[in-house]
Amino acid sequence: MATDTMASPATVGSSPPTKVFKNFIDGEWVESSTGETFENRNPADTRDVVGIFQKSAKADVDAAVDAAKRAFAKWRLIPAPRRAELVFRAAEILIERKEDHAREMTREMGKVLAETRGDVQEAIDAAYYNAGEGRRMFGPTVPSEMPNKFAMAVRQPIGVCGMITPWNFPMAISSWKLLPAVVCGNTCVIKPAQDTPLSTFNLVRAFTDAGIPGGVVNIVTGFGPEVGTPLAEHEDVRAVSLTGSSAVGRIIGGIAAKSFKHCSLELGGKNPMIVLDDANLDLAIEGGIWGGFGTTGQRCTATSRIIVQKGVYREFIERYVARAKKLKVGNGLDETTEMGPAVNEKQLQTDLSYVAIGQDEGAKLMCGGNRLDQGNYQYGWFMEPTVFTDVDPKMRIAQEEIFGPVVSIIPCDDLEDAIAIANGIEYGLSSSLYTKDVNKAFAAIRDLDAGITYINAPTIGAEVHLPFGGTKATGNGHREGGIGAIDFYTEWKSVYVDYSDKLQRAQIDRPE
Ligand code: NAD
Ligand code: MN
Repeated sequence: MATDTMASPATVGSSPPTKVFKNFIDGEWVESSTGETFENRNPADTRDVVGIFQKSAKADVDAAVDAAKRAFAKWRLIPAPRRAELVFRAAEILIERKEDHAREMTREMGKVLAETRGDVQEAIDAAYYNAGEGRRMFGPTVPSEMPNKFAMAVRQPIGVCGMITPWNFPMAISSWKLLPAVVCGNTCVIKPAQDTPLSTFNLVRAFTDAGIPGGVVNIVTGFGPEVGTPLAEHEDVRAVSLTGSSAVGRIIGGIAAKSFKHCSLELGGKNPMIVLDDANLDLAIEGGIWGGFGTTGQRCTATSRIIVQKGVYREFIERYVARAKKLKVGNGLDETTEMGPAVNEKQLQTDLSYVAIGQDEGAKLMCGGNRLDQGNYQYGWFMEPTVFTDVDPKMRIAQEEIFGPVVSIIPCDDLEDAIAIANGIEYGLSSSLYTKDVNKAFAAIRDLDAGITYINAPTIGAEVHLPFGGTKATGNGHREGGIGAIDFYTEWKSVYVDYSDKLQRAQIDRPE
């Protein structure tokens, strides 16, 4: 049944009453066709239920796509600068609500407040950037080979776009997809990750409060196979964008290929940071701690491998491990916490299973490796920051994405060796090099097989106006961020205007 509010209080189990959130379809908040719901719990304290969300199914996807299709007929005709003004207004609304949204994000997925503030800020940055695109969306105007003929290419919207997002950047990643899509004139149906639907609701509420019409952005919550798959399969969804694991990327890519719909896949990573003998070690250690344990290691760009040249290997390890041991693990709502919990029990079990795998493979466990479950930790999915050293590049802990606070340190002989190790994995998202030698830096920029390379900074820290994405199993060649997203969410139309008043045949009617 439709209501005009996003959430209604309901008493579910214990007090205080937990908010029930509905799907957002055609500008209305509606219950799912299944009548079922699921809980969104705080991974730092699972007694805290952040909200109750709709466990939707194909019928809900169909209703949302239908609404988006009807909205597209009008939205595509609104001039792009006008569409962009609404996005600009959404940015200003998000600024006012930044602190509340950051706190709710920390509650729903655990990362520390400084980082959830950064996540909301990223949506604000993306909103300003894409609002500016409303007055650009450049296309080429070129000379024709014929006299009295005009040639240009314009960007046109694609239609209904389906979006499937992960939980680790719950507002930022939703914004990377929704904002360029709507500025370009598309309409959207988004399925947020089941661990973090609230942050997508908060983003979309800024859109509706800014005046973006009903049906332009629709939310259907639920699980991958029940909502994500029918969304990708729907024949009226003309473009699908997934950020998630490479395993799910294979499923979505396969579905999209069958009907030739546009498909953007932003997938996993196993990102290397190289530290050469001449590096500023203080900087490299600080960067490696932030890159390895920020977001509890749950970033697609997390620094999960540190490749250190032999001359500084022992010193690097000693100082890095000492720093890792001192990290303060806890509830991200406490401003002094440096590392929050794993997002859920399954992710924690995966992280712990890789500790056992690393030990079996013969890597040296220098710190961490244990679950934290005493005292205040008992209600959450916490573990110690974990460092393995003397890791062989072929070990599973050096090859597979763990997505937790587990860093593998690998020795190397020189830059050439380091780059071979860095590239010797199936992924190619981010990479980094610490050196003071500009020649080595530029050689690495050329040779690291990854979508992103940082010099003297860890593998994390993307800015919204540059292309974001990776090579090999990290994706299928598209980029989010900046102009990459405008490219994905538009279709080129080449236009020829012949004002010669006669038939001019390209390639055939050539001057004598
Ligand atoms: P996931 O692949 O488990 O889930 C991602 C989304 O896909 C979720 O919304 C999920 O419900 C949905 N999904 C799952 N199974 C599906 C199916 N069969 N059909 C349709 N949809 C389905 O990933 P996650 O655990 O949410 O996120 C972590 C992963 O995301 C990591 O691999 C990480 O590297 C990756 N990631 C990549 C980027 C990037 O831009 N490259 C950014 C962030 C996260
Ligand atoms: Mn949650």
